[in-house]
Parts: sequence; C-alpha cells; structure tokens
Amino acid sequence: GSTIGMLGAGQLGRMTALAAARLGYRTHVYAPDAADSPAAQVSAATTVAGWDDEAALARFAASCDVITLEWENVPVPTVEALARHKPMHPGAGVLSVAQDRVAEKGFANRLGIATAPWRAVTSADEVAAAAVEVGPRCILKSTRLGYDGKGQAVIDRGTDPAAAWAAIGGGTVPGLVGIVEGFVPFVCEVSVIVARSADGAMAAYPAVENRHKGGILDRSIAPARVPASTAAEAERVARTLAEALDVVGLLAVEMFVTADGAVLMNEMAPRPHNSGHWTMDAGTTDQFEQLVRAVCGLPLGSVERFADAEMENLIGDAADRWSRLLAEPGARLHLYGKAEARPGRKMGHVTRLFPKSG
Ligand code: ATP
Ligand code: MG
Ligand code: MG
Repeated sequence: GSTIGMLGAGQLGRMTALAAARLGYRTHVYAPDAADSPAAQVSAATTVAGWDDEAALARFAASCDVITLEWENVPVPTVEALARHKPMHPGAGVLSVAQDRVAEKGFANRLGIATAPWRAVTSADEVAAAAVEVGPRCILKSTRLGYDGKGQAVIDRGTDPAAAWAAIGGGTVPGLVGIVEGFVPFVCEVSVIVARSADGAMAAYPAVENRHKGGILDRSIAPARVPASTAAEAERVARTLAEALDVVGLLAVEMFVTADGAVLMNEMAPRPHNSGHWTMDAGTTDQFEQLVRAVCGLPLGSVERFADAEMENLIGDAADRWSRLLAEPGARLHLYGKAEARPGRKMGHVTRLFPKSG
C-alpha cells in the first residue's frame, strides 16, 4: 500500500490518518512534537529537533508516496525541500499566502474579495496611525502564527496603541509585523471548506456557521442559518481562492456575514478545519477522506450531507463530560488521545445530528 506523509501531528493529522487507513493507506507523521502526539498514536512517526534537518527530511520523503500537512505554518523552505523529493500538497505558494495575514488579505482583495479594512504595521506609531484610518474599533493581530485568538489585541477609543503593540509582542519579538483590522460588526461567522484536485476538480461543503467563546471555536452548525444567496456567495469566495491559489488538497475559508448580507473574508487555512468535523458524522465523504482523495489523485467524494449537524468542541478538562456524552443517545463523541487536559486545549469534539433541512 501507499504511504501518505503528514507534516504536523495533532488531531487533524490523527483524523486524516484514520480516514487514510479506511482507504488502505498508511500515514507517516513528521513533526518536532510527534512523540505520543494524537497523530503518532495511529501512525508511523518521526520526531525531529526542528523543521530544517535536511537529512531527516530526505529520509522522511523516501518513506512516503505523497506528502500533505495539517498545520499551515510549516516553514516554506521545509515544504520546498520536500517538494524536490515527492509530490507535496498543498505547495509552498499556497503556504506563503496562508501563513501571513497581510499576504492573505492582499491576495483576496486583488481578486475582488472583500475583507475588513486593514493596514500592515511595524511599530506603535504605525498602530496609532492605522487605528485612526480603520478604527475607532479595531483588532491588532500578529501577521504570523496566531491561532485561537492568540496574538491579538482589541483597540478602541482610549486604548493606548503602544500597550496594544506590546501585548502582541512588539518590542520583544524581533521583526514583528502586525495587521490592524477594522472591527467587523458581523451578524454571524461562516466557513466553507473546498477540496481541489490536481486536475482542477473542486467540491465545496455547504457553508457552516461558527460560534466562538473566548476566541476559540465553540460550535459549528451545519448548514449555516443564512439566506441561500449568502451561502452561495461564501462558497463562491472559497472556490475563487482555491482556484487562484492552485490549491491541491483542502482550503478552509473563514468569513464574516454582515447585517446587509455582505461576505468578508477573514482568514484561510489550506488543511482540514475544525469547522468541518461535522462531516465525519453527517457527510457522505468526510473532510479528512476528501483530503486523502485530493492529494492521492483519487476522484473527489460526494459533499452531500444526510443530516443537519451541530459540532461542539470539548475544551480543557472534561473527563466527567465525556462519560455523560457517552451516555447521551445519538451524541457522536470523538476524543483525540491527549493525555494532559490544559485550559483552552482541544481534547475532542461531539457532534449531534438533526433531520436534514432544505
Ligand atoms: P483561528 O483559531 O480560527 O485560527 P485566529 O487566532 O487565527 O483564529 P481570527 O480567526 O482572525 O484568529 O480571529 C479569531 C476570532 O476573532 C474570529 O473568528 C472573530 O470571532 C474575531 N475577529 C477576528 N477578526 C475580527 C474583525 N476584524 N472584526 C470582528 N471580529 C473579529
Ligand atoms: Mg487562524
Ligand atoms: Mg480564525
């Protein structure tokens, strides 16, 4: 059988490996923190000191037939090095856009896709100037490496720009670049996951509605409760980006929906996405199998849903919740095998199904 190489070793890699096994593939994960990770529990694993060990990369590539990733912040030179050995999907070009909020929003805007107004900033003075232009209410984010709302500071009338800049690492992180985004008064957040094959075939899952708590995704509701025209526009945005980026694999696009029905792109991730976990329980083909199909050159599967679904993340210490969920009829529990429950850590998720609407 063939082996899929997986960069990153978290729950997204684990669920991809489980889907890959169902289609007869093996998975080999490669990451600095692979030891006893969620993905390593169900795959072969190589733990490395860093991403830049050329000899280790070559040995890893030799063990795989195709390579993909579950973390979009793998250094671009690592992905370029691997692509010299084996097919690597998604490629370096996609990552260089998706790793950087300024590149990502600029890319979308050049395609005519709307975003919040934004400015790139490299100092407290530039934060202050940008806040005048896109504020008064705005969000300062580090352009790189943020997730679950980390590396962000809200700026409002009365906020000291220097304090906001310091809060995201200004003055301590060398070469820090930030982005100041106007605060979008959205009525809801949606995401669309689109799969794309090397031959250009695409399949998009229906738009889902995302609710956050404390900056972390709490629930995804499938399908999103938005007008059909809004869902169609969200899907169009995701397809346009996937095609323009020449993605092979998955592209998840997060968007804001405003009261007047406008759809604004927030960010994108070229990998399986937390908001797509419902597809494991209510989709004909789940997002992880779809990734395997796309990168292995298999036909894309049906994105039909056979039920409506609500996915809830299980965050932090929840062992007593898990036993209650195991006793709840129809609750579909997924645990990631993480030994240590820390506050804010995604330990698993649960999906509940409802009769299909529409
Ligand atoms: P993720 O965990 O999804 O990768 P992240 O840390 O990369 O998150 P964002 O998705 O940009 O960060 O922001 C997290 C959340 O903060 C958004 O889902 C949204 O609820 C809110 N948010 C971010 N940017 C804005 C904005 N410009 N206007 C209003 N709300 C925003
Ligand atoms: Mg993000
Ligand atoms: Mg986000």
